[in-house]
Amino acid sequence: MSIFSIDETHDPQRQSWVESANGHSEFPIQNLPFGIAARAGQQPRPAVAIGDHVLDLAAIADLLPPQTHDALQAGDLNALFALDEAVRRALRQALSRLLSDPAHRARIEPALCPMADCTLHLPFTIGDYTDFYVGIHHATNVGKLFRPDNPLLPNYKHVPIGYHGRASSIRPSDVDVLRPRGQRKLPDAPGPIFGPTARLDYELELGVWIGQGNALGQPIPIGEAAAHIAGFCLLNDWSARDFQAWEYQPLGPFLAKNFHSTISPWVVTAEALAPFRIAQPPRPEGDPAPLPYLWDDKDQSAGQFSLALEVAIRTRTMREEGTPAAALSASNASDMYWTVAQLVAHHSSNGCDLRTGDLLGSGTISGATRDAFGSLLELTQGGAEPITLPNGEKRSFVEDGDEIILTAHAHRDGFASIGFGQNRATILPAIA
Ligand code: MN
Repeated sequence: MSIFSIDETHDPQRQSWVESANGHSEFPIQNLPFGIAARAGQQPRPAVAIGDHVLDLAAIADLLPPQTHDALQAGDLNALFALDEAVRRALRQALSRLLSDPAHRARIEPALCPMADCTLHLPFTIGDYTDFYVGIHHATNVGKLFRPDNPLLPNYKHVPIGYHGRASSIRPSDVDVLRPRGQRKLPDAPGPIFGPTARLDYELELGVWIGQGNALGQPIPIGEAAAHIAGFCLLNDWSARDFQAWEYQPLGPFLAKNFHSTISPWVVTAEALAPFRIAQPPRPEGDPAPLPYLWDDKDQSAGQFSLALEVAIRTRTMREEGTPAAALSASNASDMYWTVAQLVAHHSSNGCDLRTGDLLGSGTISGATRDAFGSLLELTQGGAEPITLPNGEKRSFVEDGDEIILTAHAHRDGFASIGFGQNRATILPAIA
């Protein structure tokens, strides 16, 4: 058994006695994502999403594998996801059994809380956050804005490009984002100015949560890398494009990226995503093969995910008029040039130690066509071609009062579809 295995927890016929879970577009019993939730007046505790409800795991710990008991009393998921994969699998199987067999209903039901009555917190105490750049269409689109004839730099197809981000400013969904102030230089101005960003953008990214880490100096081989990935989330890597353009040379992103990043609060486990694994799409003719430390046959055959990603916007006007969010783009995780296992293997290849609860971002995931571009920088050609929303409003970049919503869903014939829940946040004006 491994994270690649499909078992009875994936059975599409399995139903829950939590009626809202059956046919739920995000959290049917086949998903069972973990999070940290708190009811009003209570401490945040480990929980699982089931339909429209949240199950408090500490309250039913006596029914769960003994190795998980200490971890289920914590205020984060770090200890739980540091456990062996076999224990995590046993926990998932136990939860699936308890939530499907009506014989357990009377005992479990008091530990359920409507999701609407819970606050969801960061799932992990995040030690480190690294952001990659593996959306090749995004890299090409952004590169074209600067170098029309030569959008991808020579290293791109050899090395998974990344940089160290900042963990302290990561927040869960539904925490408002303050428009950042910073230094920027207008193209024709003699010098820089300091003030609110005029080019605030979102980035649609897949977030990767590290389960068991590695010791300093001991790289994770590519063939073992998938087992170190505990789960996934949606990551919005908010970006101030004007600060970025001025500050990024020669060391890369800094204050343009670290003022706030939003994650979806539910950890969709590697086990839940097992049915949605696909082969990494073959590289285009003429592209170099990855170096051996990044190549594994099993990873190439099952290391990518078929995961539909979407971005939507709800402006202040749309909220006031009661109109629904408007779709901005749709792409797929399989638009990544590298697999998530390759990211883990590469990150640790120099001996760098990854730790439980570390977050890796994929980089913006865009598709090949305009309707699949995962940032406004790409959708508006660097702000030159504003987009028009269904209600007639125009956008070059994100404005105060705008809410940006990221979603992800996995579908496969013969299996129950699952989702990630929402990653959403609203922009507040900069502090004067
Ligand atoms: Mn990013």
